Amino acid sequence: MNLDDLLIHAGSKVHIKAPAKLKETLQDYCFDGADFLQILTDFDRTLTKHSSNGIVTPSTHAVLENSGLFSDEYRDKATVLRDKYYPLEMDPTIDREKKEKLMVEWWSEGHRLLLLEKIKKTEVQCAVRESRMEFRKGFERFRRVLCAHEVPTLVFSAGIGTIVKEVFLQKSSHRLESLQIVSNFLHFNEQGITVGFEGPLIHTFNKGRFSHLNKEYFARTAKRKNVILLGDTLGDVEMGNNLDESKFNVLKIGFLNDKVEQNRAFYLKVYDIVIEDPENMEYVFELICAILNVGEDEKSRLNESFSIPSESSPKTVVDLSSRALTCPSAVDAEEHGNIVGNVTVSPAGSLVLSSAQ
Ligand SMILES: [Mg+2]
Repeated sequence: MNLDDLLIHAGSKVHIKAPAKLKETLQDYCFDGADFLQILTDFDRTLTKHSSNGIVTPSTHAVLENSGLFSDEYRDKATVLRDKYYPLEMDPTIDREKKEKLMVEWWSEGHRLLLLEKIKKTEVQCAVRESRMEFRKGFERFRRVLCAHEVPTLVFSAGIGTIVKEVFLQKSSHRLESLQIVSNFLHFNEQGITVGFEGPLIHTFNKGRFSHLNKEYFARTAKRKNVILLGDTLGDVEMGNNLDESKFNVLKIGFLNDKVEQNRAFYLKVYDIVIEDPENMEYVFELICAILNVGEDEKSRLNESFSIPSESSPKTVVDLSSRALTCPSAVDAEEHGNIVGNVTVSPAGSLVLSSAQ
């Protein structure tokens, strides 16, 4: 598909705020090409499916909650929290300040409960392997074309970074290539048991405040003035807050996963393109191909299917209902590295900044 096709025949699920302006922006992106392009994206329900055939798929938090690793008490309490706060997170009528306060309450209490469960690193790897979390349809080809053209991606997630990383390692052929992740990483002690989280707490409505966090990444990509930002909440557009408007172009694409009639106008206020599809990102793949001038020949080689790298393949079936079982490490421990930094959420639940090492 060329640019005109993408704009004119976008389909009923794709809403474009200002087609003429978007065309100009895309023509500039095409002219500048891969060397000036970068991707800034949310993870949960943006790169992954919100639902599959109408059944909601897990977020990074839910991967752990559904895994059988946690006590019934934890699951009950986490469900109560989600039932209370998720509708508030998605309610566009709640003002900004109030919403941020509510999100801090939710994330802090959720993380406090999670840390009380004292899960192990190896169990996290198993939980991902056994989970129903899936990347969107079109994601694999999206990653393949980005990696083929060496376009960097920064994933900025309010989910659990340790899970985000593990999902890339286990469920995508290009794994961590040309990829940086800013998120809430679990901190493990020497016995490999969770004792806290790294860095400041990131939730869906403070991404703007921490958009500068990965200084090294932004220094390295400073010349990449053309940004494609992907998100699924209204707060996700703030991931680009640190980018100087006089130097960067930011094309914002939002996935509107549910309550589409109610939320469409709010999404079109902040996103340039709104895609109403809970499980497909083919349109974004086509857009990238048009920007990078990827021909049909090259596209046909960008297969959506892939085989899991052999070192990531599970060697045995692991019963996660038993905490006593340990899973053979999916990936070389070196690749995961030891997480160091500041622990912000103590098992007691207080948010404190302290040296982790
Ligand atoms: Mg999300």
